[in-house]
Amino acid sequence: MVTIRGATTIERDEKEQIQIAVNELLTHIVRKNDLNVSEIVSIVFSSTSDIHSYYPAKAAREAGFESASLFSAVEPDIEGGLPLCIRAMLFVEKNIDARHVYLRGAKSLRKDLTEKMNIALDGPAGSGKSTVAKALANDYNILYLDTGAMYRACGLRALRDGVDLSCEDSVCAMMEKIDLSIEYRDGKQITLLDGEDVSETIREPNVSMAASTVSKYPCVRVKLVEKQREIAKKMSCVLDGRDIGSYALPDADFKFFLTASSAVRAQRRYDELTQKGFEVDYDALKAEIEARDLQDSTREFAPLKVADGAIVIDTSDMTVEEVIAEIKRKMQEKI
Ligand code: C5P
Repeated sequence: MVTIRGATTIERDEKEQIQIAVNELLTHIVRKNDLNVSEIVSIVFSSTSDIHSYYPAKAAREAGFESASLFSAVEPDIEGGLPLCIRAMLFVEKNIDARHVYLRGAKSLRKDLTEKMNIALDGPAGSGKSTVAKALANDYNILYLDTGAMYRACGLRALRDGVDLSCEDSVCAMMEKIDLSIEYRDGKQITLLDGEDVSETIREPNVSMAASTVSKYPCVRVKLVEKQREIAKKMSCVLDGRDIGSYALPDADFKFFLTASSAVRAQRRYDELTQKGFEVDYDALKAEIEARDLQDSTREFAPLKVADGAIVIDTSDMTVEEVIAEIKRKMQEKI
């Protein structure tokens, strides 16, 4: 027994449209899988709740699918789901590799039913990763893991303890004792250092460079990457960082690399920090971002780079909405 899936859409909730769409979908499935109608044991249809005028099982019966048992159900509404969509699941008495059929734009991720997926979003500071990652996580109802926060927490610990950042041994000794954990409260990532919520403190500009400096040491990276892999193994998530697609999760289902000119990135950081009430100088911020880029991309261990198979998106002249739409389009193409 094999299960074959298919989906299609209609333009209006009208009986004729449903009949044509169901007939077309089933005909394609039969052809593509080289089926005999008699081999179809049953067909389960589900349609979005905006389809009322006629039900797909009736359309299938009228289209000549006489021996299969048929069942139609209405799907619960899913925010952002494809409207006017009919899905079919055929149970077939045959030993073949199922060839699923998606017609009329129906190839769409259903957020609630997709299998576990990891999305790697890498790029330099200010390329828009975190804004985009948060939006994607929200849209797909999956976890957002800001890996930069973990490196920032290590940088903060080092600053607080007065650790010599240029001394790898001292940083590694600090890492032996560090008590760092990530929690989620009301869907928001909380970074805890020795039980203290440092989610805001780690955003302070002086922590950025410290994070970049400690993050070049393997003893820091190995420990944090281990935590990231553990989380990504358990659940679907979007992870943003520098080495997610290249080192932490080279087998991530989707890999993107966001970039933008340093002037645009510095302006974004400037806006973000001034909105939060920090007093920052644009030129100093731009210089810091460039220094961080250089340090992050030239370190020996897991540097910032475009991962094999990653899709590069230059976000300099794009709005956040445009970047998200582009990423979703690329994801749809891949599935
Ligand atoms: O992304 P964010 O600016 O918060 O990251 C702070 C620093 O942490 C980066 O400049 C980088 O050096 C380091 N980092 C890293 N690998 C990651 C995430 C962040 O090396 N996956």
